[in-house]
Amino acid sequence: MIKENVSLKHHNTFGIDVKTKFLVEILSEDELLRILKSKIKGPFRVLGLGSNILLTKNYDGHTIIMKNKGIVVQEQTETEVLIKVGAGEVWHDLVLWALKNDYSGIENLALIPGSVGAAPIQNIGAYGVELNSVFKSCRALEISSLKFKNYEKESCKFQYRSSIFKEELKGKVIITSVCFLLRKKPHKINISYGELQRLMIGKENTIQNVAAEVIAIRKSKLPDPEKIGNSGSFFKNPIVTQKKLLALKNEFPEIPYYEESKNHFKLPAGWLIEKIGYKGKRKGDAGIHKKQALVLVNYGRAKGLDILALAEEVKEKIFNFYGLRLDFEVNLL
Ligand SMILES: Cc1cc2nc3c(=O)[nH]c(=O)nc-3n(C[C@H](O)[C@H](O)[C@H](O)COP(=O)(O)OP(=O)(O)OC[C@H]3O[C@@H](n4cnc5c(N)ncnc54)[C@H](O)[C@@H]3O)c2cc1C
Repeated sequence: MIKENVSLKHHNTFGIDVKTKFLVEILSEDELLRILKSKIKGPFRVLGLGSNILLTKNYDGHTIIMKNKGIVVQEQTETEVLIKVGAGEVWHDLVLWALKNDYSGIENLALIPGSVGAAPIQNIGAYGVELNSVFKSCRALEISSLKFKNYEKESCKFQYRSSIFKEELKGKVIITSVCFLLRKKPHKINISYGELQRLMIGKENTIQNVAAEVIAIRKSKLPDPEKIGNSGSFFKNPIVTQKKLLALKNEFPEIPYYEESKNHFKLPAGWLIEKIGYKGKRKGDAGIHKKQALVLVNYGRAKGLDILALAEEVKEKIFNFYGLRLDFEVNLL
């Protein structure tokens, strides 16, 4: 179904009120192909549930939203199950399905907003687990040839909050389904994240308990987009070499860091932002969340450009203060 001149306010978790000339909701791969071949002549783009974007202007083209659903078990052994999931499934609904069936691997990723189709784009991750640990492959329409292709895990170049789909293939493919390899019993539970480990003390090590604690932490720490517009972490945590880390530690001995790989260390961007006094800062209706400095918020009527101006200001201050470049995790559209 194609709608004309539609506000996207309810299609992005920042709640930014901009319009798209056309909005197309797609229920199947066949429909996607048909609409692209016969109905769309000008520019188009794809959105999921709008929880990792900042809309900065009206769009004079077609905004396509993948709504194709379905979770299908394709193969299983005694220990593993391979499932194929439609891009339009809600990510958290998939987590709930896996918990109900006692399949493990995605319990730490409970309550991350968004669609299944968008999950590989930035290799979603939380509480010690990233999507790539369960990702098998995905199917996507290559826009230039209008042919469906399979992308196996090895070709997806997954990294911290990134993949080939956020870099070389950005805007060039539309993901229509994703295959995941989940575990049956015995589960391998990951409670390496400090706070999760603490909360699990005295509780049975089940995936259902892990998910319940993850949900509790998320609810206590992250602002609910239903109540206050936001797109989760606006910035990625910067990754620095050991040399840069030592220089920073010299100046800021209390700086927290985590080993990311040999000679590379991740710094919590929230801490860096808090330290320069920006936690809770507000400019008009654009702000930095009071409890979580990594999250930019819309207090009501902020425009995308107001949020962007504040984000650019933070970026500049961080560079001047620490000599560090902050990258946006959120996609600007
Ligand atoms: C409160 C909150 C908490 C969050 N916490 C986390 C977290 O813990 N970890 C984490 O990793 N992320 C987190 N996020 C970010 C967000 O949930 C994820 O990035 C999610 O995968 C985005 O899904 P979406 O469907 O909303 O994608 P959208 O925001 O709609 O789109 C994101 C990007 O993907 C592209 N895209 C979407 N669907 C497709 C498709 N089918 N094919 C090709 N391209 C597509 C879009 O063009 C856009 O560039 C959080 C966001 C919020 C609001």
